[in-house]
Amino acid sequence: MAGRYDAMIIGGGHKGLVCGAYLAKAGVKTLVLERRYLLGGAAVTEAVFPGYRMSVASYVMSLLSPRVINDLELRRFGLVVLPANDLFSPIENGDHIFLHDDVAKTQQEFAPGFSSRVIDMQVLLPPDLEEIFALPQGYIFHGEPLPDQLFFQRPAAHYADYRTPIRNLYLCGSSSHPGGAVSGIPGHNAAREILRDQRRWR
Ligand SMILES: Cc1cc2nc3c(=O)[nH]c(=O)nc-3n(C[C@H](O)[C@H](O)[C@H](O)COP(=O)(O)OP(=O)(O)OC[C@H]3O[C@@H](n4cnc5c(N)ncnc54)[C@H](O)[C@@H]3O)c2cc1C
Repeated sequence: MAGRYDAMIIGGGHKGLVCGAYLAKAGVKTLVLERRYLLGGAAVTEAVFPGYRMSVASYVMSLLSPRVINDLELRRFGLVVLPANDLFSPIENGDHIFLHDDVAKTQQEFAPGFSSRVIDMQVLLPPDLEEIFALPQGYIFHGEPLPDQLFFQRPAAHYADYRTPIRNLYLCGSSSHPGGAVSGIPGHNAAREILRDQRRWR
């Protein structure tokens, strides 16, 4: 395997994919290994109910780096960003509300008869998130974003530059700076450091 590939990415979440895409673009022969049957990690779109594709976990894509979008030509490959309006949000007592981008519309909203139109539903608790996405304890950010694990201390002091104590092993997911969310940035930064090291070793 090592002879056939220059780099292996463990986990095909969006950050691993971003890192892999940058490496491949730079001519590094890259293999992405994913334990699930499909790619995307917690940013996946999946057919949970027959006939419907949906965001199973992450539902708002507001932080994806414009640089990643442009460098990887994501629009040419089909990326279309839709406005996050008309979001359904369950509330207490079996009730719900729709959150619109129009606040006045949101205030009026309580959609009578909505429950009779529900086709199916999926409820994911932290153990489910751990089982499906391998998120430790179902925690969405791969490690608490607390002051002692942020910026130059993420995931730990002295290891915030995507390198690890094991030579040639790098971090490119949410446990690395700047952390969780659908940003692609750790993947971009890790690829930059890997390529920098590769140039040094030549
Ligand atoms: C319920 C929920 C809602 C969220 N909502 C939002 C939102 O609205 N907006 C937002 O920006 N962010 C949101 N997030 C956070 C965001 O989805 C994550 O921070 C982001 O997807 C993490 O990306 P990642 O590539 O670092 O890791 P992940 O998406 O966790 O991907 C890691 C991948 O690695 C695979 N893997 C793990 N171990 C192995 C192994 N040993 N071998 C092979 N593969 C392995 C996993 O199967 C997974 O596919 C949400 C997360 C959750 C769970």
